[in-house]
Amino acid sequence: MSERKPIESWLTDMDGVLMHEGVPVPGADVFITKLRESGKPFLVLTNNSMYTARDLHARLNRIGLEVPAENIWTSALATAKFLDQQHPGGTAYVIGEAGLTTALHDVGYVLSDADPEFVILGETRTYSFEALTKAIRLINDGARFIATNPDNTGPSPQGALPATGSVAALITKATGREPYFVGKPNPLMMRTGLNAIGAHSETSAMIGDRMDTDVLAGLEAGMETFLVLTGLTAKEDIDRYPFRPTTVVDSIADLVDLA
Ligand SMILES: [Mg+2]
Repeated sequence: MSERKPIESWLTDMDGVLMHEGVPVPGADVFITKLRESGKPFLVLTNNSMYTARDLHARLNRIGLEVPAENIWTSALATAKFLDQQHPGGTAYVIGEAGLTTALHDVGYVLSDADPEFVILGETRTYSFEALTKAIRLINDGARFIATNPDNTGPSPQGALPATGSVAALITKATGREPYFVGKPNPLMMRTGLNAIGAHSETSAMIGDRMDTDVLAGLEAGMETFLVLTGLTAKEDIDRYPFRPTTVVDSIADLVDLA
C-alpha cells in the first residue's frame, strides 16, 4: 500500500468525537482552536438535519467549542448541494425543520405540496399523520423520495428518539419506494463537504466514533480515517467489521499534534 500524503484538511464527526451527551470531549476545544489557527480547511459533520449551521455554531459555543458556522456541514446542507447539482431550481414537499428548509431555500428550491418533483424527509420532533399522508400520496403520484440521513434513532438524555430512518421506513412500507439517503454512510456527504471547502480526498482525513458510518464513508470517499473511542465504538468492536480505520486513537486529544 502506498504512503498517504500529509493531511491538509480535516472532516470530523460531532457527536461522540467533539462532544458526548452534551458534554465536550477533553481536548476537542484545543483541536478546533489549532485547526482555526492553522488555517487548514476543516468541517464538523453531523447527520442531524434539524438545525442550521448557525444554530449548531451557537449550541457548540455554549459548551465552549468555537466552530464558525461556515465550518459546519449537516446532512441538510449536503442534501441541498446534491439537489442543486442534480436538479437545480426544483420543487419539493419537505418534512423537516429550519435546518433543511433553509438549506433548500438557499439553493433556490421552491417548497410546495402541489405536484412537487421531490419529497424530502429530514429530522423533526413533530411528525404529523397529516404530513406523512401527504408525503405518501405525493410519492405515489410520482414525486422522487429523498431522505437526509438513514439513522433510525437519535440520542437524548432520556433515551432513544425515533429519527429520519425510522420515519422513512414507514413511508417506504406505505409506498413501496425506498428513499435516496444523502447523509453518512453515503460518501456523498463527505464529497459534497470536501467540495464546499475546496479540499481533496487524498490529502484529507475523517475523524469519527462509528465504524458503520464515519469510518465507512471516509474510506469510501478515499480519505484517511481516524476512529476515536469516546463515542459509540469500543476497541473490541472494531474487529467485527470487514474494514478498518487507518488509525485508532483513544480520543481527539491524541490528534492535536496532527492538526
Ligand atoms: Mg458520532
